[in-house]
Amino acid sequence: MSERELEFVKEAFVTNWIAPVGPHVDAFEKEFCQLTGAHHAAAVSSGTAAIHLALRLLGVETGDEVFCSTLTFAATANPIIYQGAKPVFIDSDYTSWNMNPDLLREALAARARIGKLPKAVILVHLYGQSADIEPILAACNEYNVPLIEDAAEALGATYKNQTPGTFGHIGIYSFNGNKIITTSGGGMLVSENPELVAKARFLATQARDSAPHYQHSEIGFNYRLSNVLAGIGRGQLQVLSERVAARRRNFEVYQQALGHLPGIEFMPEADFGTCTRWLTCLTVDPQIFGADREHIRLQLATKHIETRPVWKPLHLQPVFAEYESIGGAVAEDLFARGLCLPSGSNLTDEELGRVIDAFLDVYKNLH
Ligand SMILES: *Cc1c(COP(=O)(O)O)cnc(C)c1O
Repeated sequence: MSERELEFVKEAFVTNWIAPVGPHVDAFEKEFCQLTGAHHAAAVSSGTAAIHLALRLLGVETGDEVFCSTLTFAATANPIIYQGAKPVFIDSDYTSWNMNPDLLREALAARARIGKLPKAVILVHLYGQSADIEPILAACNEYNVPLIEDAAEALGATYKNQTPGTFGHIGIYSFNGNKIITTSGGGMLVSENPELVAKARFLATQARDSAPHYQHSEIGFNYRLSNVLAGIGRGQLQVLSERVAARRRNFEVYQQALGHLPGIEFMPEADFGTCTRWLTCLTVDPQIFGADREHIRLQLATKHIETRPVWKPLHLQPVFAEYESIGGAVAEDLFARGLCLPSGSNLTDEELGRVIDAFLDVYKNLH
């Protein structure tokens, strides 16, 4: 937190706006649009809720298919199941670690030939890095399939000087505690289409018709963001660029100290944009390094340094085992060899140094 969040929260208390509605919610949406270039925004209780609303807004129903990046967190795909639809997972490429545009285009063409196009595509921007949006959006437009961008991990990133999440029909962001800025929990749904965003607000507040009594013609959700948390969000928006700079600095420090180790490769930064380096990720070539990712992870754990494997692809998850996957070898390889280092915005030089020394020790002890 910076200093502004508490002032906004106090204001919510003083004015007694302790509700999932209020001036901070409105201002948070407006300021979020100003910062990202999004046209319209609805503040909601989580990124997952925003994805669920997006699918509802696009009419995804039982039996429909939704194409979805496989290398991501389960929250990307869970709402597909909430809607009774079926995910079809699409592999990544090595350039950005995100959805492979060629693979998506081929998959859409194949589905078009059998007259069974998906109802939507969910594209993830992983670890602070944008996917290659233009060819993906072009393929979606060619087949008239709406694009949902899951930019939960990519606030502060750029794609050709624009914000990932603002290109597709609907974009979503997360303010969970682990994200680059946080409201403790929260999310945002954005779209160029004001009617979609108005409908998102309606569905997020129990789908209450405009009538003096309580009248409902549709099933709604309780998905709106609290005015107190929106106050935190307003303060956090003011420090987003500082947070991005801090995360990128972590990455630089790690890369300078560890990048020379044989078999270690840091996550590339694709040339179409800026990565926030939300997490510093690297891959290990066990043949060249002399030990695999798990060995490093376990060695660091003995020194109380927590690192994590890269996301386990969704097509490998037991809960999604029954669904189709188009490709998957790249995501599997990144999972097998990928490691995320401690990456908090508040890491001190001393703490970074401790991780680096421990990592160097792992290498030394092998040789
Ligand atoms: C965090 C995250 C979500 C979910 O956001 P919540 O606010 O935690 O519900 C969705 N997708 C990705 C890629 C995420 O990292």
